[in-house]
Amino acid sequence: MAKHAGVLYVVATPIGNLRDISTRALDTLRRVARIAAEDTRHSKKLLSHYGIGTPMTALHEHNEAEQSAMLLKLLESGDDLALISDAGTPLISDPGYFLVHAARAAGVRVVPVPGPSACITALSASGLPSDRFVFEGFLPPRQSARRQRLEALRGESRTLVFYESPHRIVDSLDDMAGVFGADRLAVVARELSKVYETIEDGALGALADWLIQDTNQQKGEFVILVHGAPDRNRAAMDVQDLQVLQVLLQELPLKQAAALAAKITGVPKNRLYERGLEVKKSL
Ligand code: SAM
Repeated sequence: MAKHAGVLYVVATPIGNLRDISTRALDTLRRVARIAAEDTRHSKKLLSHYGIGTPMTALHEHNEAEQSAMLLKLLESGDDLALISDAGTPLISDPGYFLVHAARAAGVRVVPVPGPSACITALSASGLPSDRFVFEGFLPPRQSARRQRLEALRGESRTLVFYESPHRIVDSLDDMAGVFGADRLAVVARELSKVYETIEDGALGALADWLIQDTNQQKGEFVILVHGAPDRNRAAMDVQDLQVLQVLLQELPLKQAAALAAKITGVPKNRLYERGLEVKKSL
């Protein structure tokens, strides 16, 4: 740990409702020598609302490298700094990685001051499995790259969480329905903690249609959550899979029947083989 160096506080701010900020976050923003903010004009509204006059320095994706070097010098000279973004938790699809990485590499203490993030906020109210999930952030804006990314995620069994802008919400949902299947369950969480907060669940195809029909629902900020694919390794073999195995067992030796059933159903071969042994025993 660098001697006499200041502390870098990574402070989460509201994602909509200005009251969603902790007393510790407010104390920290008041007390530090300087705040590194993604957009100083945007953050001024939050700071003015709480009567905080701490000086700010802009730290955004276009100046992150140079500004981080300058801010690191301040930290090393003993200043405590806070890092905030326009909304939610810094570094989560937001700037700050450069500074946090450089600070830790230099032995400067980095202290998180936790608070809102749209990903966790949406997940907590989505009703989708939340024990394991994958945060994917923003999908690529171009359709071919977006579909390629979705293809890579098609078999992912954990809940998928995406951020999306109003310009691409319909296209992204359409592509998700195309790649994951129109019947896959999903949730669209819009304008969380704001006046027009909407949390809509349904099949991907139906959600895309709903958005196309109601252009008001295409406005604002979005989190899309998609139910994971069935986990073929963990899920119980369903009745149809078993029927396939039984039919094949009437015509083929166990090993071949299991291999062919695996190709047809997608269930792992060894599971089908074990099940086949049980079927044979019971005959
Ligand atoms: N750092 C932020 C966080 O912790 O959630 C995310 C910043 S990212 C640049 C902005 C994206 O987050 C938006 O385009 C949207 O996908 C999502 N988002 C932020 N606020 C939201 C809100 N109130 N409701 C729904 N989505 C939101």
